[in-house]
Amino acid sequence: MKNTMKKAAILFFAFLLTVSITSTQALAAEWVEFDSKNTDELQKEWEITFSSAVDESTVNMENVYVKDSTGEKVSTDYRVEGDKVFIKPVSNYIPGQTYTLFIGPGIKSGKGQDLKSDVRFSFSVNQVERPKSDMLVHFIDVGQGDSILIQAPGGKNMLVDGGTKASGTKVVSFLKSKGVSTLDVVIATHPDADHIGGLISVLNNFKVNQFIDSGRVHTTQTYYEMLQLIDDKNIPFKVAKTGDAIDLDALLKTTVLHADEIASSTNDASIVTRLEYGSVSFLLTGDAEKSVESKILSQYGNIQSTYLKAGHHGSNSSSTAAFINAVKPLGTILSYAEGNSYGHPHSEVVARLGTVGSKIYSTAESGDITITTDGVKHSVSVAPWTPPVEPSPNPEPKPDPKPEPGLEVKPGAPSKFKNCTEMRVYYPNGVKVGHPSYEKKHDRDGDGWACE
Ligand SMILES: [Zn+2]
Repeated sequence: MKNTMKKAAILFFAFLLTVSITSTQALAAEWVEFDSKNTDELQKEWEITFSSAVDESTVNMENVYVKDSTGEKVSTDYRVEGDKVFIKPVSNYIPGQTYTLFIGPGIKSGKGQDLKSDVRFSFSVNQVERPKSDMLVHFIDVGQGDSILIQAPGGKNMLVDGGTKASGTKVVSFLKSKGVSTLDVVIATHPDADHIGGLISVLNNFKVNQFIDSGRVHTTQTYYEMLQLIDDKNIPFKVAKTGDAIDLDALLKTTVLHADEIASSTNDASIVTRLEYGSVSFLLTGDAEKSVESKILSQYGNIQSTYLKAGHHGSNSSSTAAFINAVKPLGTILSYAEGNSYGHPHSEVVARLGTVGSKIYSTAESGDITITTDGVKHSVSVAPWTPPVEPSPNPEPKPDPKPEPGLEVKPGAPSKFKNCTEMRVYYPNGVKVGHPSYEKKHDRDGDGWACE
């Protein structure tokens, strides 16, 4: 039922946005409204049908364009197909604004005939307060690896990494269980097998609208197989650049904080992204190590984020104190397998997270982890992990061997004494060289004992 209604609504909008122009029909100014509840509408493409096939070379920004309420031309993309011209905004229309589509003179048919011009009509984008919907960020338990599914508030899906090849089936069934049929964006942070292996199953099971790669070449069969599949399926492919914005949802700000296709290590080629929904943010760092963290720190002043996916599975090669202090996450996700041979997560990282008061969530301990947020409130589906207290190398501080006479420091005693009378209150037999309270001036006979 819901689906039928949605379909009807889509058809209705398609109807509203199709305009026919014939040479005989005079087109008066028209007023068309469309609902902006669905983000797709903010990108609506207009279809203008002329009376005969259009000579593409005669169509340009000067004779087909859209102006906003202030009379400014909106940056648009257009294309010509037979008797149709399609036009859409490069970025979103803004709710509450009125736009006017102009069709000026100079558009000709294939036979050189002038086609209808001087047509304009306006349309407004309703200022419907879009209902605040939730964004879900799932950290999928893929054992030793990373795979993160982002379900944007407007319903689009983005997958960051796909775990190892062996976890491909798990990732596919997880995505299906979350109602995913299309992935609007897939990011392969870097070409290591524990990040891209599972993407092969993903590419074989879902329609992918855009693939964003680090561009870092890796001479492995897995990487080659992945590229081959992207090519076979004609998936739009893009290499990330630092500073890129990822267009996933009008309510989200998604920025690439780091990309480096010529990095010397695959880890340091990691695409680092920061997602911002209202006041709640996520920093996803792939396997980026210290040098990348310091690059990000020097390039971006404020990288404070609500949640951090710690770099490189909680390895000490990443998550420096400086970085953790700057991110100050309320929650940190560590994605790794129990008992992995690398010893991830390293205790130093766990300790550093503790010093900034970050809660820790572990895929190895808790399995899949989902964070839900409406841009203000946020909650995690599992309880934080309390790391076991590291058995210190000397578990029981051994009772100090009786210090040598004359070297014992009395608790609460001052370290400097004016004279021997004062010292003897604490040290009736005086102190020896090496004692913090020993001073030559109290050792009149110079025998290494003061005030004896
Ligand atoms: Zn990794």
